[in-house]
Amino acid sequence: MAAPDPADIVLPADCRPADGRFGSGPSKVRTEALDRLAATGGTFLGTSHRRDGVKSVVRRVREGLATMFSLPDGYEVVLGNGGSTVLWDALAFGLVEQRSEHVVIGEFSSKFAEVTRGAPFLDDPVVVSSPPGTRIAPVVDPTVDVYALVHNETSTGVMCDVVRPAATGLVAVDATSGAGSLRVDPAEFDVYYFAPQKAFGSDGGLWVALCSPAAVERIGRVADSGRWIPPSLDLRTALDNSRLDQTYNTPALATLFLLCDTVEWINDQGGLAWSAGRSDASAAVLYGWAEQRDFVTPFVADPAARSHANATLEFTGVDAGDLCTALRANGIVDVEPYRKIGANQLRVALFPAIEPDDVAALTRALDHVVDVLAG
Ligand SMILES: *Cc1c(COP(=O)(O)O)cnc(C)c1O
Repeated sequence: MAAPDPADIVLPADCRPADGRFGSGPSKVRTEALDRLAATGGTFLGTSHRRDGVKSVVRRVREGLATMFSLPDGYEVVLGNGGSTVLWDALAFGLVEQRSEHVVIGEFSSKFAEVTRGAPFLDDPVVVSSPPGTRIAPVVDPTVDVYALVHNETSTGVMCDVVRPAATGLVAVDATSGAGSLRVDPAEFDVYYFAPQKAFGSDGGLWVALCSPAAVERIGRVADSGRWIPPSLDLRTALDNSRLDQTYNTPALATLFLLCDTVEWINDQGGLAWSAGRSDASAAVLYGWAEQRDFVTPFVADPAARSHANATLEFTGVDAGDLCTALRANGIVDVEPYRKIGANQLRVALFPAIEPDDVAALTRALDHVVDVLAG
């Protein structure tokens, strides 16, 4: 008998999640949030970002994030356009004084290291790296003035601890996919940055940075140093505008609205402890299932490093591409691995907006598809 075409597999009802979006970014946007955006009708989209209609939303985002992350006095929530990738450029211009150190454990963490390596006004960065699927601690280096850490390496599904490596040197944490899914202590970072299209269930195009007083001081000092900084990448300009509840240039208003909606939803449910708990619950379901099946194993060998923000699973005896095809034909999308990893993998987001029950339904769907493909 010929092997079944994965695209022809029809999932039974109990294997169908209520929402089939498991992408690691852009990720599931809650339909309730979209409904509230639509309900603003003619009063929000299409109005000035310099007027209270929009500025009040930015204010709620800033206050809501300060509450959610229990930011101590003096910490500031800064926003700008361009997403985390653009913030790397801004950090190279406006936060690193002379030399940065980068913990590189995958595609995203390597990209920031490339930025500082290319910056002609900076010394070559120190790079501490480990192979895909593993993590490594930074090393103390007195010549380093910024330690660049990653809270969750989205390409490999590895989470790291956010801990200050040394008494000197600022700590800048790429939490693009970790923020909101993973717990963090503000005392351990100076800049904790992310973008809204991952755990915050919004759209892309914005960066958000939680900045400590030491980071604010550094931003001012570098801006005064005489280094040329392109205005759109100037962190002091971003800081000045954020204090006025606006961005330097026009932001995507829908992105702001959806971000605000998720932040307030999380705070209403109990804040970061609640949202991280949701991700913990989804992680327990998915990794627990993988431990019980002989055709799948978590890609990350160390259980403590297995991400609770997005999981990577390695398959044997079944083609992960066929699994993706079958799932996609049934409305379950974006569990493909990161494009450069090149392994027989699936990658599943576990962000707070994703229902743990839907993750459980996904495991039943995978059991079903594997069963049918085995013939
Ligand atoms: C998605 C992601 C980025 C890039 O974010 P953009 O907003 O697309 O620039 C950077 N770092 C990590 C860890 C990510 O997951």
